[in-house]
Amino acid sequence: MRKLLVANRGEIAVRILRAAREMGIATVAVYSDADADAMHLDFADEAVGIGKPEPSASYLNGPAILAAARRTGADAVHPGYGFLSERAEFAEACEQAGIVFVGPSSKAMRLLGSKTDAKRLAVDSGVPIVPGFFEPGSDASTLFEAADQVGYPVMLKASAGGGGRGMRVVRRHEEFHHQLELAGDEALRAFGDGTMMVEKLIERPRHVEVQILADPHGNVACLFERECSIQRRHQKLVEEAPSVSSGPLWPEMREAAARLVRAAGYTGAGTVEFIVDEGAGRFYFLEVNARLQVEHPVTEAVTGVDIVAWQLRIDRGEVLDLDHTIMGGDRSALKGHSIEIRVIAEDPAMGFVPSVGKLLAWSEPRGPGIRVDTGFRKGSEVARYYDSLLAKVIVHAETRNAAIDRLRRALLDFHILGVKTNIAYMLAVLDHPGFRSGRFDTGFLEREFAEWTDASPPPPELGAIAAAASMEVEEGSQAASSWAAGDRFRNIV
Ligand code: ADP
Ligand code: ADP
Ligand code: MG
Repeated sequence: MRKLLVANRGEIAVRILRAAREMGIATVAVYSDADADAMHLDFADEAVGIGKPEPSASYLNGPAILAAARRTGADAVHPGYGFLSERAEFAEACEQAGIVFVGPSSKAMRLLGSKTDAKRLAVDSGVPIVPGFFEPGSDASTLFEAADQVGYPVMLKASAGGGGRGMRVVRRHEEFHHQLELAGDEALRAFGDGTMMVEKLIERPRHVEVQILADPHGNVACLFERECSIQRRHQKLVEEAPSVSSGPLWPEMREAAARLVRAAGYTGAGTVEFIVDEGAGRFYFLEVNARLQVEHPVTEAVTGVDIVAWQLRIDRGEVLDLDHTIMGGDRSALKGHSIEIRVIAEDPAMGFVPSVGKLLAWSEPRGPGIRVDTGFRKGSEVARYYDSLLAKVIVHAETRNAAIDRLRRALLDFHILGVKTNIAYMLAVLDHPGFRSGRFDTGFLEREFAEWTDASPPPPELGAIAAAASMEVEEGSQAASSWAAGDRFRNIV
């Protein structure tokens, strides 16, 4: 691997480009017309335009990306997450073009790509799954009968789903067809595939996932687990490592994840997701995310393993030989506690609608144990075409309590003007005693924050402040420090 093309944008493109540069690999960035000034381009040796802003014309445009690789002589492509990362056809097209796809083989991806196929492989590998009905191509009446057999409440899910879309809870027989229609439509729009499945709803579960790394020589490392139960609409907002729950289940979950990965012939980095019913002392396989995940940094913090560098090293033919405590699953390898929150450009006070616009001011938190991964800076444009993730704030400290304190401080020190963000909302979540106690489940936000409103004082006229802030920052350090220290900007998020 001499030259790597990163087929993504935003924070994950920056993250991957940094790793490649550290390893002495030449880099190529790609960009859509909306991203001609994007930050990730500054981190690559070369940049190639790949099309119009709509993802289908650019970041999802496999032929344009392969053409860019050929044109620049790139011999490897890293897809990041989202976009082409889990499209087996794209992995296969790379294989056929003699270009390394940084990820599992197209064959392994096909075995695990759809939730229904992955469940079949899990059953064959002796990995527990949520009881349900997973026949591909089932019609509405078959699914309806299946729901009766599984027993209400049930969860309807898109087989091709991701990011919590195409998912609906059905509590009563009478609601089934209505919910099926809604979920099917959403899945068709989001994934171009309306195939649905039915499974038992596990009440008040935790979401716990195992990060794995595997090489083609049969070495599989389980980099322990992450706790991702703080979710809104089935999408993760806070992620931690290690998990705060279910100690007795760890060895079994680890073994299950490794068996599944081996059965699929999986190589590279991946995540095996489970839901855990703590009361019953049971865990159930959900799906495999056959790619790098948004929340990989919390695992990097507590294990000291650079997951992205290892993705590249595995594809360069290196043998996976992490520290023997990690390879052996010895939890003494874990150092401290790490928490990540996703800073999103959205307005929690207005039903979480995405917020777009130019970033007029941007000041990131700093200090020991704080990592900010982002693809934005002052002057960046937050476009309507893409995911609204602005930045990830990842903290690391000796204990969970210290990590929460550090994260609170970091969020208070994160000043963003120009778009609305979820920072005040996330601060409220961190301050909730239920979060601090660690006794929560995937329904926590829905129960405790359904009625949440921002109690901080209303901001003065935003346009004037934004203009003032952007001027002050440009004027240099004196003004910038008064801006950073000024309480008047606190809570303008
Ligand atoms: P993670 O576990 O890494 O948080 P998510 O399911 O939240 O995974 O998805 C990560 C990113 O990938 C998000 O930006 C999401 O919008 C995107 N994504 C997830 N599934 C798909 C899919 N099937 N097609 C396109 N994008 C997807
Ligand atoms: P996605 O592809 O959107 O990530 P997942 O199957 O991984 O879909 O599920 C996402 C989230 O939805 C889980 O973390 C969990 O909170 C919830 N969920 C999924 N399946 C069930 C279930 N059977 N019972 C209860 N909650 C579930
Ligand atoms: Mg999932």
